[in-house]
Amino acid sequence: MKEKLLISSCLLGNNVKYNGKNNYVEGIYKLKDLYDLVIVCPEVMGGLSIPRIPSEIINDEVINKEKINVTKEFNKGKDIVLDLVKKYDIKKALLKDGSPSCGSTYIYDGTFTGKRIKSLGITSRFLKELNIKIYTENNWMELLK
Ligand code: SF4
Repeated sequence: MKEKLLISSCLLGNNVKYNGKNNYVEGIYKLKDLYDLVIVCPEVMGGLSIPRIPSEIINDEVINKEKINVTKEFNKGKDIVLDLVKKYDIKKALLKDGSPSCGSTYIYDGTFTGKRIKSLGITSRFLKELNIKIYTENNWMELLK
């Protein structure tokens, strides 16, 4: 049986991003030979639409660019993902960096000016607490080794 890998849906080319597009990574489907992919998009799973207004984290709350608080939706998506992680005993995740849900080495600073800060998205910070190893689109090839 293949090991399970949690993966951001947008990295596989699914148009689930806030702008209705994706973050497809060339060659990513090679992972299917090695892993049983558990595909998630916490924001859509939390009930947000495609497309949607972009959001950033401000003082642990998630606020969209029109100043609407979407923390509840982000947390709902996070909870669904965490349930899957526990259900399938998932140990590794490949998540899109920079996202207010999936980011793991950086996110944006809450000013909607494109300024990055070293922090984690809402889902990623809980995965880290569960000791899930998080890969990004920048080091995903390590998963092929
Ligand atoms: Fe991709 Fe995660 Fe954003 Fe969904 S929430 S579009 S999976 S980065």
